[in-house]
Parts: sequence; structure tokens; C-alpha cells
Amino acid sequence: MSSVSKRMTRLSPSMTFAMNQKSNELKAKGIDVVNMSLGEPDFDTPEHIKSAAVQAIGKGYTHYTPVPGALSLKEAISGKLKKENGLEYDPSEVVVSNGAKQSICNVIMALIDEGDEVIIPAPYWVSYPQMVLLAGGTPVHIDASIEQGFKITPDQLEKAITPKTRMIILCSPSNPTGAVYSQQELDALAQVVLRHEDLYVLSDEIYEHLNYIGAHASIAACEGMRERTVIVNGVSKAYAMTGWRIGFIAGPKWIVSACNLLQGQYTSGPCSVSQKAAEEAWNGSQACVEEMRQAFQRRRDLLVSKMREIPGLEVNVPEGAFYLFPKCSSFFGKTDGTRIINTSTDFAMFLLEVGHVATVGGDAFGAPDYFRLSYATSEEMILEATKRIANALKLLK
Ligand code: PMP
Ligand code: GLU
Repeated sequence: MSSVSKRMTRLSPSMTFAMNQKSNELKAKGIDVVNMSLGEPDFDTPEHIKSAAVQAIGKGYTHYTPVPGALSLKEAISGKLKKENGLEYDPSEVVVSNGAKQSICNVIMALIDEGDEVIIPAPYWVSYPQMVLLAGGTPVHIDASIEQGFKITPDQLEKAITPKTRMIILCSPSNPTGAVYSQQELDALAQVVLRHEDLYVLSDEIYEHLNYIGAHASIAACEGMRERTVIVNGVSKAYAMTGWRIGFIAGPKWIVSACNLLQGQYTSGPCSVSQKAAEEAWNGSQACVEEMRQAFQRRRDLLVSKMREIPGLEVNVPEGAFYLFPKCSSFFGKTDGTRIINTSTDFAMFLLEVGHVATVGGDAFGAPDYFRLSYATSEEMILEATKRIANALKLLK
């Protein structure tokens, strides 16, 4: 009998990649789809970063690096954390991995035992609960609706903590909602965390630079939180480097050492050439980051204004990242005569197959009344997509 491990039976596929795949399949059949499913910048990786990689290849920088990443790269990361976040981390308190995704998975695998609870505010990024399940832990969700700006309150956090809670995963700016926590809001959440021993925050800051309201705040900067926080960040979003696969953690030495141990037996250090590119991203000119941030902000404004013209959708103004997360539950129970829309996944499938716009249903993000659009695409595509969505939704009665 062929059967995979019990561990594998707990996992479901990533809906973000699944919808992207479906969109590509339709495109391959000659259907012109506007793809707003996957969260990845459409910009090319900036020239100076690409040429650092070319130079690395030319110089033969093509062998194994130390498991937690090259020292020069970890120094660049320490420099970035000091300059941009006012945080002191020694390079020995940093581990570089194959994208922020592996960084997050390392931390979860290193800290979570069978039966441990991990608090994940919903809407959440699709992979967090899956990684917790892989580690044998139990994801515990706190719901944060559009009415509360998709952000949890200290009171909600306190109520969700039990003696089994080991970790809280915070993501600000958030995927999928774009919500951004202020320093004050993080201080209030930190107060709750500090009341409980042996409770850690995994702070996913991968969208740090895509912030439209001001300075980025990290919970690691709150008083007493440095020893309770593992920061996750990387180059994928800010520098349009999704394919290079470089992310990192910075945190307490004992957690960093555990991740190093795990990575040494699992993947080794990430791609040497990509590490040189990432070093240039963090050490080189930051003008490209601001240029892309401004382009994303213009796209956000355009998408919000067009989506607000569509009856039946509830649309807020996201403060960061490159996602819009409208409420679409007013369409549940409606039909175009051939199918009934019962869930947000049905809704996303309808938009894909009838409207030819690829999005992702909120079910995958623990928020069944919503759906996600990625606006990491051109203004022209955004205009086309919103026209198509409006026309498709007119068919639902
Ligand atoms: N965290 C969040 C919230 C994300 O949206 C993503 C998406 N890629 C990641 C982590 C993983 O980033 P990377 O591509 O660096 O693995
Ligand atoms: N983070 C992106 C997204 O949410 C990329 C896909 C993924 O890593 O899940 O669309």
C-alpha cells in the first residue's frame, strides 16, 4: 500500500500558488486572464542587485557558504536592523534562509512541540497554520474583522492565551489585509505577552517597506520584547526578488542556534549567488525601494477607488503590503443561473472562470467572508480587472 506519512496528511496545498496555477492553465488555453492571485512584485530586480550576482558568479562565488549565511551578508543585515529599525543584533544572532518562508518554518519547527498552541490572528497568511500543523502544534485563531481594521486587540489576545500557548504570529504590514500595527498598538500587545512566561512572538515583517502611513514599527523594539521576539524579513517584496529566495531571522541566540542546527541538516545555507545579490540589496542604494513603494501606493489608490464603485463589496483602505481584502459575503446565495455562490472560494472561482480575473478566496486566509486581490500589477491591469469584476458581478442575482 502506498501511503505518505501522517504528517503529510495534515497539510493542504497553498491556495495562493494553486490559484496562480489555475490562472496560468487558463492562459495556456488562450484565455486572457488578469492575474491578481499571487503576491509578487511585477517589477524586475533592480540592475545594481543583478550585477552583484553576475560579479559573484564571475569571481567563482559558487560554493557552499556557512549554514546560517555568509558573514558579510549577516553583517549587512545587522546594519539594516540598526539603521532602519534601531535594533542591535550581532551577526551571530541572524540566520539567512531560502526565503522568509523557510525562516518562518525553521522557527516553528525549532520551538513548537506536539500539542503546543500557536496564536494566529485571522485573516492570516495561508502558510502559518499549515507550518504549525506540520510541527504537530495546534493553530488557535483570533478573528479580526474589517470593522476593527483587521487588527486584534490586547483583550482578544489575553483571552486566547492558555497554559499551552507557546507562540504568537504577528504580520505587519499584513498579508492578506494590508493592516499595519502602530508602535502604540504593538506596545499594548507586548504588555500582554510579557505577562506570560515562555511565550514568543514571531514577527513577520516581510512587507516592512510597503507601508503607506509612515514609519514601520517592530514589536521587538517594545520594552522587554527583544528576548521574546524573532523578527522575520527578507528581500522578496521590497527589492522585487521573489525568485532569489533569501529571507532571514534575527532573534535570541538560543532560537537562532536551533534554527542553524535544523538548517544544517535540512537545506544548508541558501544559494551563494543570491546571498551576494541580497548583500547588495541591503548595502546599496535604497532609491529603488521608495520608487516601488510609491508605485504600489498609486495602484492601491486606484484599486480602492474602482472597487468601491462596485455594489455589494465592502472595501477598506489598506495601509501597507500590496493586497486588498474586500468583503464579498453579500453575494453568498446568489446565482448566475448556472452556479450558486456559497463560499468565498466559489466567489473567486466565479471571478476566474466568468470574469477572467484570478483572485484568492478568503477561506484560505481563515476569513470566509472576504477575498484577496494582489495589486502588484500595472495600473492598466488594475483598470481592466475592476471592469471585468464589475461586469461579472452584475450577472449574480
Ligand atoms: N510572509 C508573508 C506574509 C508572505 O506574504 C510571504 C510571501 N511570499 C512570505 C512570508 C514568504 O516570503 P519569501 O518569498 O521570502 O519566502
Ligand atoms: N506570499 C505570496 C502570496 O501570498 C506568495 C505566495 C506564497 O508564498 O504563498 O501570494
